[in-house]
Amino acid sequence: MREIRENCGVFGLNSNKPVVRRIHLALHFLQHRGQQYCGIATSDGKNVIIQSHKGRVDPTFTREDFETLQGNFGIGHVSLRDRQPMTLHSKIGDFAICFNGNIVNSQELIQRLKKSGYSFWLDSQVELLSKIVARGESFVDGIESINKEIEGSYSLLILTPKGIFAARDNLGFKPLILGSNGQEYAVASESRALQNMGLKIVRDVKPGEIVFIDGKGFKTLKQHESKRTAFCAFEWAYTASVDSVIDGLSVDKARNNMGAMLAKRDKGNLQADIVAPVPNSGIGHAEGYHLESGLPLKSVFLVDRYGDRSYTQPTQEERDKEAEKKLSVLRNAVEGKRIVLCDDSIVRGTQIREKVKELKRAGAKEVHVRIACPPLMYPCRFGISTRSYDELAARRMPLEEIREYIEADSLVYNTLEDFVKALGKKKNELCLYCWDGASPTKKK
Ligand code: SF4
Repeated sequence: MREIRENCGVFGLNSNKPVVRRIHLALHFLQHRGQQYCGIATSDGKNVIIQSHKGRVDPTFTREDFETLQGNFGIGHVSLRDRQPMTLHSKIGDFAICFNGNIVNSQELIQRLKKSGYSFWLDSQVELLSKIVARGESFVDGIESINKEIEGSYSLLILTPKGIFAARDNLGFKPLILGSNGQEYAVASESRALQNMGLKIVRDVKPGEIVFIDGKGFKTLKQHESKRTAFCAFEWAYTASVDSVIDGLSVDKARNNMGAMLAKRDKGNLQADIVAPVPNSGIGHAEGYHLESGLPLKSVFLVDRYGDRSYTQPTQEERDKEAEKKLSVLRNAVEGKRIVLCDDSIVRGTQIREKVKELKRAGAKEVHVRIACPPLMYPCRFGISTRSYDELAARRMPLEEIREYIEADSLVYNTLEDFVKALGKKKNELCLYCWDGASPTKKK
């Protein structure tokens, strides 16, 4: 059975002006992280007000929503799976909460809480986090309990009438970054939301850190030490937008490096005419391949401007359908050419297979597929919805069989060693579970 897991983006802002329009704009810049649900909660210093919708942020928020969501601070969320933020009235005060990540032991914790008398409305992970926070003596105490009790990943925002708490799990799986322009203090899943709104990057929230954000700025309330980190390596390869910087490393640079690694392996072994990306996530990888190899970089696909990002669709069928609509072949660039085709990863192989077939139908002489990530061997445990065990091509077939299946003339993936080298980080700073199955958390 296919397992749907969450992927999403969070944003929080404290300003000297009403924030709802600014948060709405920030969510637009994070929309690539989830397109099924969106929500905003604001506070006027007394109340916490919330509004969420099914669908994307631009078409769903109405003028009435903007009028209702009063206040100079607030948080927002875009999601693949559920509506967030959610609110709770509790003994420590009213609050709204949202997060990016995946709580691996959520069902176990929910059952345990139910046995001790708690009731749940949806059995959702964000609901679980809200109950754990509300049990605390204070918000910091509640977040500390999350830290102790959960296994998994979270980049979490809590809005209270006094300000915003931002917290990142001890291993820092999912990104969370602070920005400011001197009057506004913000926190976001990705730096592009800050930069595109005229805010300067201040720094990443550190793994294990709890930060409080109010009109005075950022204040660290707690910092847990951890022997290692586990930054999600897939963020740099695919999830994050190419104009973002995550934990000090530009996504664009990381993708260029991954492409360059592939080009180095091909040096002297492959004759080709052009290198081309599968847009959009293959673009940075193809650029890197081009810079290293000197092969001309050419677009061979036109991106449908109304298409969605295929992985943010909830089912594989919808993802395939979306991918079908998304790209059309630029025949003139393709005819008679030997093409190196770069993409970020192969899940089932169905999408890249279609692209190779389309290029050949359009007259390509050869198509050599180069994949920035090593073969995906495990479905993500920590927060992204793309795959289940039985659909991963690399689990079902050896390399040569995958090549035959996708009808490519050759197929090369980056090795795990080259992939890590491209990120310029140590192995124990990264989550590489997708590829090596080594869980950075306690349990397998
Ligand atoms: S399992 Fe893969 S996608 Fe999930 S957090 Fe780790 S590296 Fe990222």
